[in-house]
Amino acid sequence: MKLPPFEYACPATLNEAVALLASHGGEAKALAGGQSLMPMMAFRMARPTLLVDLRKLKDLRQIKVGADGVRLGALARWRDILDDKRLDTAHPLLKDAVSHVAHYQIRNRGTVGGSIAHADPAAEMPGICQTCEAVITAVGNDRAGATHAVLAADMGAGELQVMAQAVGKCCAWLDRCLVGLAVDREPRDLPLAHTLSPRPGCAADESARSVSTCSSARR
Ligand SMILES: Cc1cc2nc3c(=O)[nH]c(=O)nc-3n(C[C@H](O)[C@H](O)[C@H](O)COP(=O)(O)OP(=O)(O)OC[C@H]3O[C@@H](n4cnc5c(N)ncnc54)[C@H](O)[C@@H]3O)c2cc1C
Repeated sequence: MKLPPFEYACPATLNEAVALLASHGGEAKALAGGQSLMPMMAFRMARPTLLVDLRKLKDLRQIKVGADGVRLGALARWRDILDDKRLDTAHPLLKDAVSHVAHYQIRNRGTVGGSIAHADPAAEMPGICQTCEAVITAVGNDRAGATHAVLAADMGAGELQVMAQAVGKCCAWLDRCLVGLAVDREPRDLPLAHTLSPRPGCAADESARSVSTCSSARR
C-alpha cells in the first residue's frame, strides 16, 4: 500500500531535529530505521505530516561501555549491539535478549530508540529497560532543548505494558527526540533471572516474571 503524503527533512544536528519535531504541531515524527513507522503509515495507523530522518545524527549511534554500565545511543541498531564484542562481558543479558529480536533484516535497521518510542509490549527492549533499571533520555524543544531523563523502573511497577505505553507517550508528548538509554550493569539477581527458561515467547511477560521472581527472592 502506498504511504500517505508527507514532508521529509534530514537534519544534520540534534537541535535542528528537535526544532523540526516541534514545528508541525504534534504531527511530525522521527524516522529511525522505519521498521515500524513505514508499515504503520502504509496501514494509515500513523499519518505524520513531516518525517524527520535522524540518520545524520551519528552521535546517536554510539555504544559506550563504562564502569557504571552501558550507554546506548537511540540510533544504535540491534546489529550494532550484537557485533559489539565489549558487550559479551559488559552486558551479556542485553546481548542475549537482542539476539531474539526478529530476523537479520530487521536487526540491520531496527534501533533502540525506535523500539522504545514504538513501545510494543512484546518487544525485547522494554523488558531490558525494566530489568536493568534503564534511564531513558530525550531532548525536547521546550525549555531551550532541556534533556529529560525517565527511569524505566519507575514507570510501571512490574506492569511492562503500562511502562511501555508511558514511555511512548512521554516521547510523543512535547515532540521530543529520544537520544539514548543508560542500562545498568546486569542486575544482582541475574543468575536467577536466567533460570526462567524456556521463554514463553513474549519478552514483556518473561521480564515481568523475572522481575517479580527476583523481587520475591529479595524479600
Ligand atoms: C517483522 C518485524 C518483526 C519484529 N520482531 C521483533 C522482535 O522479535 N523483537 C523486538 O523487540 N522487536 C521486533 N520488531 C521491532 C523492530 O525490531 C524495531 O525495534 C521497531 O520496528 C522500531 O523500528 P525502528 O527503530 O526502525 O523505528 P521506526 O520504525 O523508524 O520508528 C518507530 C517509532 O519510533 C519513533 N522514533 C524512532 N526513533 C525515535 C527517536 N530517536 N526519538 C523519538 N521517536 C523516535 C518513530 O517516530 C516511530 O513512532 C520487529 C519489527 C518487524 C517489522
